[in-house]
Amino acid sequence: MNHDTLLIELSKMLGKEQINTNQEELYDASADRYKKYAKARKVLNVPAPVAIIYPKSTREVSTLLKFCNDNDINVIARGGKTATEGGLENWKETTLIIDAKFLDKIIKVDYYNMQATVQAGVALQTLEDVVRQMGFTTGHSPQSKPVAKFGGLVATRSIGQFSTLYGGIEDMVVGLECVFPNGHISLIKNVSRRAGGPDIRHIAIGNEGTLCYITEVTVKLFKYYPQNNQFFGYLIKDVDTGISILREVMVNGYRPSVARTYSEGDAGQHFYHFHKGKCVLLFMAEGNVDIVEATAKGILKAVDKFSDGILEKVDSKLIEDWFNHLNWSQKDIDDEIEGMLEKDYHAGFTTEVSADWETIVQIYKNVMRRITKEFPRANDLTLLGGHSSHSYINGTNMYFVYNYKINCNPEDELRIYHHPLQTIIVEETLKLGGSMCHHHGIGKYRNEWTKQEHGSAYFMLEKLKEAFDPKGIMNYGTIFPQEDGKKYQK
Ligand SMILES: Cc1cc2nc3c(=O)[nH]c(=O)nc-3n(C[C@H](O)[C@H](O)[C@H](O)COP(=O)(O)OP(=O)(O)OC[C@H]3O[C@@H](n4cnc5c(N)ncnc54)[C@H](O)[C@@H]3O)c2cc1C
Repeated sequence: MNHDTLLIELSKMLGKEQINTNQEELYDASADRYKKYAKARKVLNVPAPVAIIYPKSTREVSTLLKFCNDNDINVIARGGKTATEGGLENWKETTLIIDAKFLDKIIKVDYYNMQATVQAGVALQTLEDVVRQMGFTTGHSPQSKPVAKFGGLVATRSIGQFSTLYGGIEDMVVGLECVFPNGHISLIKNVSRRAGGPDIRHIAIGNEGTLCYITEVTVKLFKYYPQNNQFFGYLIKDVDTGISILREVMVNGYRPSVARTYSEGDAGQHFYHFHKGKCVLLFMAEGNVDIVEATAKGILKAVDKFSDGILEKVDSKLIEDWFNHLNWSQKDIDDEIEGMLEKDYHAGFTTEVSADWETIVQIYKNVMRRITKEFPRANDLTLLGGHSSHSYINGTNMYFVYNYKINCNPEDELRIYHHPLQTIIVEETLKLGGSMCHHHGIGKYRNEWTKQEHGSAYFMLEKLKEAFDPKGIMNYGTIFPQEDGKKYQK
């Protein structure tokens, strides 16, 4: 269908305020934060979508998806626009962005049954502000909390800063509603647990807009006791010490809401005012008084067991202050872009992986060694390091961070800097049996490794795509590798 006819057809289904063809906004919608520097320099090499569409109900989402499916139109679902891996990037000539802006209602907050239901376009901060007034929390706190919306948070399988206590979004979602490309609306009911076959919530959670459009989500609520929070911080000898202490806390059954270890380099950017060139270990204990006391005891015991690696205790007030300024508003996101343009400098690129306790330190060391030895632009790196920020009974994550000066044409930045760095991280992680994507999803820029990530289980993923999106209209190139996408990737 040509673009003019498409716009005419859309105008028959929707009101004027629901169809956006503003050129600047279409340019903005053609890529996400993965290409933030190229986007800001106006050198994006991907097609712009035809329009951004704002449905007002699940029924409208269903009509739109069926229309796109019947007419082979690519669809990119959009929420808060904080995607980092190319999930919002457009690789097709004829694409509609279906934005959840008008799906913005908090449907029900049920304090007795400890759950709240929202539409996909509600920002996490909006719900959190409402439930906090009544002494509750969602427990979900990704750094993008002020901006990210529920549809995106669920679709990317996001995780928050207090995950060690509350879990990732997959532990919080009770039920949800989603729409498939043929227009079918599925409502997964809200129950505390069930054994009614496979857990079908997981078809929607983490689908990154490639299988269905999430329209409604119900999440758990927790009692909130900020007055009881306790913070702990230490300068430590090395990353090994930090990981050993995190493990000791976790395997003994304690669940601090925050449990983190930072390498020297990464500590430098977060804790420049106290890190003294050393690695940093920190914790936060949260919950009712009895739980906080028990958790604090567990943390102190673990620290004591590895006291040889502890260099200095940090004033807990410094850790608390740091936490209070961690989240990013839209203004912070915009300021970051301004800063990049001013200095031709990329701050804050990350690749987050996970593995078991035994393997994670090995991955960290291999990556550091290979980047220092092999990366041709190592001299342009202004920061290289990582931190573990989400721990489990059987392992943890490693969030690699790298900042660099951009000494090339803006359109070549990702090929010359980010891609080779990410390749080393992914290769080392997959080689040792870890996962290449702990929480940002695969997007379009890790899809070259999707098959390796899943191995023989890729069969299951592929079958889901064939079953739910047989014509491949949902977010072309995301998660599932595409031959013609390579021209954008390398
Ligand atoms: C400053 C900053 C900090 C961040 N911190 C964290 C963090 O702490 N933890 C973390 O996990 N992530 C973090 N992220 C990554 C990002 O915020 C999360 O992945 C978030 O969940 C994306 O939500 P969103 O509403 O912005 O989604 P979008 O960016 O709009 O979309 C993300 C993906 O989900 C799909 N999608 C969006 N809405 C729907 C829908 N309704 N149905 C189906 N698919 C949909 C899109 O097609 C896309 O593939 C951060 C990002 C930034 C910029």
